[in-house]
Amino acid sequence: MAIKFRCESLLSRFQNPGDESCSERKLEVRFDPLLGTSARIAEGVKLPTSADAALVSFRAPDPNCPFCAERIDRVTPLIATEITLAGRIRVGDTVLFPNLVPYSRYAAVAVFTTRHWLELRDFTPALIVDNLAASLDYIRTVTKVDADARFCAYNINYLYPSGGSLPHPHSQVYVDPFPTSMMRMQHASVMAYWDANGRCFWNDLVSEETERAERMISREGSIFWMTPFAPIGFNEVRAVLCERATILDVSSVDIQELASGISRVLAWYDSIGYNSFNLALYSGELGKDGADRVNLTMLTRTAMVPFYRSDSMYMERLHWEAALDRTPEEVAADVRQYFRSSRGA
Ligand SMILES: [Zn+2]
Repeated sequence: MAIKFRCESLLSRFQNPGDESCSERKLEVRFDPLLGTSARIAEGVKLPTSADAALVSFRAPDPNCPFCAERIDRVTPLIATEITLAGRIRVGDTVLFPNLVPYSRYAAVAVFTTRHWLELRDFTPALIVDNLAASLDYIRTVTKVDADARFCAYNINYLYPSGGSLPHPHSQVYVDPFPTSMMRMQHASVMAYWDANGRCFWNDLVSEETERAERMISREGSIFWMTPFAPIGFNEVRAVLCERATILDVSSVDIQELASGISRVLAWYDSIGYNSFNLALYSGELGKDGADRVNLTMLTRTAMVPFYRSDSMYMERLHWEAALDRTPEEVAADVRQYFRSSRGA
């Protein structure tokens, strides 16, 4: 098997303060089987969990929120008429419109609901289905008029620690002539794996993780949920759509299964005391039917508490290396249990 899960275990010793005894702390350095990037699981890492009192003012109605129902039609922009005459895309409760701060040639905001505040357990599959469907509709619409915009992704920042500037629940859609750094690295590594092995990395990863059963969480239709061997961040969960090369290949059944999984992971995050998260759904280059696969990653950020310790320190921001508290196998065991107990709920 060409997939390699390389892990180096280290011990760090120090003399305890006040006496001559020594302590040892365990440290694991893990290497991502696709990218070769590394992550550290370090004993003693701590990330603050939520404090209910910190959320009181955010749960209250905000008379200045541009995404609330009283203002959304008046203050949000319309999609340019050369793309569509519809102005905004509406699917169920979702309203999608262009981002006033575009991070890509085509950048959209998709507001989930008229409700100003959602707990993570309130992100129901139905809300997520509508939001994903509207976003895919937007991607389909803009790529029909601009053949150069071949790279796309669906993303969420939720609450300030994640980089979100407004708490009203919304996602962000990226469509651009250029891939992001992560999309570029994934594609280059998948092609290198293909050249070396003549096989699709993602399908091999799913086979290997299924066989090992250490990090695999659940299979929902053709979507496989697992924790990554070398995570990017805290409580990270990933999904691989083994039969879908690009977001435009994603079917309505896939959307329902994806939404169901996302909703359950968010409810689990809620249950362990986190409320801020990031999510990215990556696509292979549109129009290419290669070895890329649509894949999703989501992780918790520091919970929204006053004067919080950010989950992103020098290690993550400048060394591109996560330093985490728990092994992916422990995280997988918890999420797996949560998926089982919430099945059919
Ligand atoms: Zn609002």
